[in-house]
Amino acid sequence: MYEKEREELIQNLRVKGIKDESVLNAMLKVERHLFVPEAVRPHAYNDIALPIGYGQTISQPFTVAIMTEALNLKPNSKVLEIGTGSGYQAAILLEMGMKVYTIERNPDIYYRTQKLFDKLGLRILMKLGDGTIGWEEYAPFDGIIVTAGSPSIPEKLKKQLAVNGRMVIPVGGRSTQTMTILTKISDDKFRIEKIPHFAFVPLIGREGWKEE
Ligand code: SAH
Repeated sequence: MYEKEREELIQNLRVKGIKDESVLNAMLKVERHLFVPEAVRPHAYNDIALPIGYGQTISQPFTVAIMTEALNLKPNSKVLEIGTGSGYQAAILLEMGMKVYTIERNPDIYYRTQKLFDKLGLRILMKLGDGTIGWEEYAPFDGIIVTAGSPSIPEKLKKQLAVNGRMVIPVGGRSTQTMTILTKISDDKFRIEKIPHFAFVPLIGREGWKEE
């Protein structure tokens, strides 16, 4: 279902500047409509964020693409996602051949997405809790992707990133952020690149925002 819409979306992402074929290929394969509520399914292949309930959203496809491209991971890499949400971003990483670890703080969203992963047979390791403190047990990670807007870069996540690994995290105010791409050069040295003008739901937690 929706094959033609998916192809058009990929074409649209190319026009917008996404070049990484492994990212584009994964987005051609993963069926985004399965990750959104039935009511918004007809819009699943528009390049927009969509509501997934509980005041949360599934990220815009362009945002998923640019963040995944920025991670610059080889297949088989270990990647940690903070903010599982619909599970779409995690499914893209899995399709690209990564070992995927993902953390979600909202129990309703967590259990709903766990069910979906089971149904689709997606082998993704999930944890319910505050992702701003990372997942020590499986660290270090070759890549860390934070899919909620953060006031700063959580220290624990910096520590749990492998040397030469990359972290992609939207940093800024509660409503707009700058996409920040960190490359770990050595234990305490990072190279930083930035892409402005993103809008994510807030990252809530110990090293994030306070709940409203
Ligand atoms: N990657 C998701 C985007 C979901 S929106 C997708 O592909 O659909 C962001 C999600 O981050 C929400 O589900 C929200 O509940 C969650 N979140 C916010 N703060 C968090 C935290 N500290 N730890 C884990 N998850 C968090």
